Amino acid sequence: MLKIKQLTIINNELAIAWADGEETFVSLDRLRKACPCAHCQGEPDAMGKVIRPITRLNLESYLLRKYELVGGYAFKPSWADGHNTGLYSYDLLRQLS
Ligand SMILES: [Zn+2]
Repeated sequence: MLKIKQLTIINNELAIAWADGEETFVSLDRLRKACPCAHCQGEPDAMGKVIRPITRLNLESYLLRKYELVGGYAFKPSWADGHNTGLYSYDLLRQLS
């Protein structure tokens, strides 16, 4: 199971030091676009068709205001545009970076 030792924001990147010794980076841009919440990814409707995301992104969407680690398994960013429903599992974070 993945564990995070340290998280740092460097310029436009999130630097992650993993407990297993790996260090990875993911741009905030990429991070936001990969937001896993239903609002951003769209949800399948009753017919199984995925409704396109309704979230509009602007410059502030890529600014990280703050973040927290939830329950030792997920990263929860609060973006400057007020969006904060995305919960990134450590697995996802690692995949992205
Ligand atoms: Zn989202």
